[in-house]
Amino acid sequence: KEKAFVMIKPDGVRRGLIGEIVSRFEHKGLKLVRAELKEISRETAQTHYGHLKDKPFFGELVDYITSGMVFAMIVEGQSAVTNSRSLIGPTNPAEAPPGTIRGDYGLDVAENVIHGSDSLDNAAKEIRLFFGRV
Ligand code: ATP
Ligand code: MG
Repeated sequence: KEKAFVMIKPDGVRRGLIGEIVSRFEHKGLKLVRAELKEISRETAQTHYGHLKDKPFFGELVDYITSGMVFAMIVEGQSAVTNSRSLIGPTNPAEAPPGTIRGDYGLDVAENVIHGSDSLDNAAKEIRLFFGRV
């Protein structure tokens, strides 16, 4: 069964959105098979967002993602990667349609509530980075 890595970012955790967000995945039919509330190191954050290291906002992105607890999850089910991305919506919450998580809960392109793997390959890498071998 396909697995995706999904992570509620520190703004989502601070705002008490864990239950609301987990419900959306469950209602969709994606199963939560692993989850952990934790703080991540700067090193993990830099590895996770390594593809963005040349962007002007990289430093702020690492500060943000390490600013509090995240809720890291593995969700499993049919086309878990594309289905979780469609629940999450576009990167910029201002452009994300209502009904998507970012569309309903976000305003800011940087602090956009949640992360979801963008490919099967990256899902496997991210699961390994956050949970080790599962
Ligand atoms: P994520 O990887 O977190 O699921 P994404 O795949 O939709 O988001 P990416 O291009 O991978 O988007 O960007 C990773 C994260 O970097 C975004 O979710 C957001 O937090 C931050 N980010 C992206 N673009 C900007 C920007 N222009 N200014 C500030 N932060 C940004
Ligand atoms: Mg991404």
